[in-house]
Amino acid sequence: MERIKIVLKSGKEQSIRRFHPWVFSGAIKKIYGNPVEGDLVDVYDNKGTFLAVGHYAPSSIAVRVLSFEQVTPDISFFREKIKRAITYRKSIGIIGNPMINVYRLVHGEGDGLPGLIIDYYNGVAVIQMHSVGFYRIRKEIVAILVELMEDQIVAVYDKSEGTIPHMSETIGVNEFLYGKSDPVIVTENGYKFKIDWTTGQKTGFFIDQRENRKLLEKYTEGRTVLNMFGYTGGFSVYAMKNAAIVHTVDSSFPAIELANENIKLNYGDDKRHESFQVDAFDYLNHIKDQYDLIILDPPAFAKHNNVLANALQGYKRLNIKAIEQIKPGGIIFTFSCSQVVTKENFRKSVFAAAANTGRSVRILHQLSQPPDHPVNIYHPESEYLKGLVIYVE
Ligand code: SAH
Repeated sequence: MERIKIVLKSGKEQSIRRFHPWVFSGAIKKIYGNPVEGDLVDVYDNKGTFLAVGHYAPSSIAVRVLSFEQVTPDISFFREKIKRAITYRKSIGIIGNPMINVYRLVHGEGDGLPGLIIDYYNGVAVIQMHSVGFYRIRKEIVAILVELMEDQIVAVYDKSEGTIPHMSETIGVNEFLYGKSDPVIVTENGYKFKIDWTTGQKTGFFIDQRENRKLLEKYTEGRTVLNMFGYTGGFSVYAMKNAAIVHTVDSSFPAIELANENIKLNYGDDKRHESFQVDAFDYLNHIKDQYDLIILDPPAFAKHNNVLANALQGYKRLNIKAIEQIKPGGIIFTFSCSQVVTKENFRKSVFAAAANTGRSVRILHQLSQPPDHPVNIYHPESEYLKGLVIYVE
């Protein structure tokens, strides 16, 4: 079947020529035909030169590019891409590591598969489609995954209900597409976590903080730790290795329950840990100088560019409260996972917060996402997780 052709306005082919994998609707001069959301389309420049093939959507990102070569993205094409994602993770010691059986197997643009996320939880793959193009071929993707992972997959759960674009007519359903499984216990750097993909946020766990949690472990000895926005208690579990006290704060009751369960899995009834279901900003109003290590890992304050200024204010306010009150010699791990907030903007917010308090602040580490969430060098937006570790006198 001949694919629908999309021609770009003159000059608008520049970013595609630099391998950026999105075509914005404003760059389109003409569409030859009536593509339906999820169709494969070919993209050409104004002079008729082929640029790329990708999945079409009637939204501001009109095409998510699958290849810059004139190929047919069929089963063997996707099989090859997923195989490369697996080979990459094997070669960097993520797959096959006895200390880790929870990782991201496919990271959208980072693995050349825009719109597709696959996370692996000790035998259960959770697949999340962010485009109708991938949703249509989900069964084929699952078959490829099961084949390539050999005996490493017990079940595949589709969690696309909330991630298929809201403009679309397609409505995802959360369900098992292969096998079945109850929640599993995973191992991350030797620590245990219970994962429930059906009720959990995202695919069930914030895998992207693995290395930052490992770094935290180095700084917790004897400290009084506050883990704000704790969710599953990921940072708390690492901190409990040798901290004096660990407090987990989250506004959600299920999150607090999960954090408590994970602490118990690793430490039993350990009185050093306590959790509080309360709003983070309220909690931070009353902490004075109780803590000498604070983790700030809030949800994305900005999902769109039009609320960027508010989001930056939010990061600044949050960081002011922590910097103001932490004990002298205290350490703050502060993060932003908003894709629209750049590394530079996040730094500026934290700098402004520090300046506001007047305290002396040094940067110990600048953090990002781990290599199973690879950043496509041609797609700066895929570098979404930013963190700073600061020392406050
Ligand atoms: N640090 C976590 C991930 C945090 S996700 C980890 O490593 O896994 C963000 C969390 O912030 C969610 O659990 C959400 O319930 C919580 N949250 C959102 N708004 C909040 C608020 N105003 N106060 C406290 N917690 C909040």
